[in-house]
Amino acid sequence: MSAGAPPLLSARNVVAHYGPVCALRGVDLDVAEGEIVTLIGSNGAGKTTLMMTIFGDPRASEGEIRFAGRDLTRLPTHEIARLGLAQSPEGRRIFPRMSVLENLRMGAALGRPDCFAQDLERMFSIFPRLRERAGQRGGTLSGGEQQMLAIARALMSRPKLLMLDEPSLGLAPLVVRQIFEVVRDLNRAEGLTVFLVEQNAFHALSLAHRAHVMVNGRITLSGAGRELLARPEVRAAYLEGGA
Ligand code: ATP
Repeated sequence: MSAGAPPLLSARNVVAHYGPVCALRGVDLDVAEGEIVTLIGSNGAGKTTLMMTIFGDPRASEGEIRFAGRDLTRLPTHEIARLGLAQSPEGRRIFPRMSVLENLRMGAALGRPDCFAQDLERMFSIFPRLRERAGQRGGTLSGGEQQMLAIARALMSRPKLLMLDEPSLGLAPLVVRQIFEVVRDLNRAEGLTVFLVEQNAFHALSLAHRAHVMVNGRITLSGAGRELLARPEVRAAYLEGGA
């Protein structure tokens, strides 16, 4: 992060609940422009909840979330989405009955509809497979293709921040590598800012400029991605058949 520049996204002491269940217990996290920040953690640690809370659902019951100079903490989700955050959610959640093209058109609705043709061409050059499948229904794509579509749909809105929730989930190692390479290339070539939530710690930490470990709704460890990758306790818990 450059000295003095406020982070693009910042969470301060964020607490969130599902009814009586406390899922976030005071989370602090920053994402600076041009950075890839990763959050790793086991099942149920609260990673998805943090991403959803940034989008206002569930709402933070304490703390503050700021994005591009705005306080998001009490904004409705549809207004948050207009500020330039885009999400590829856990489990992809593409529109299964819509074609690839229609899915991408939905993503473009929050971006620059006047640039649709240009943005579409860009997505097809990043993910050539989607060009081949343009007329095919989303639900009939392979898992890897659905993940590509979910990311492309998010990118069609020209986000300032791309949030990816477990993009590697259930995918073959080769496909995972391709997807992580796309994220790395977009970050390097265009300075795309990325917040990545993952259980696949090896790839996520290799990619990240900075990374955090979440345990039971709290961030317990933070550092450079490669630094965390080298730490024995991280390796034991998240890499070597650990939690
Ligand atoms: P995973 O990798 O399995 O998705 P996660 O780190 O993303 O895990 P969350 O999905 O954020 O974890 O869940 C955090 C905690 O909140 C868990 O204890 C979970 O059971 C609980 N939780 C999540 N969603 C809900 C919900 N809709 N209602 C009630 N509790 C929930």
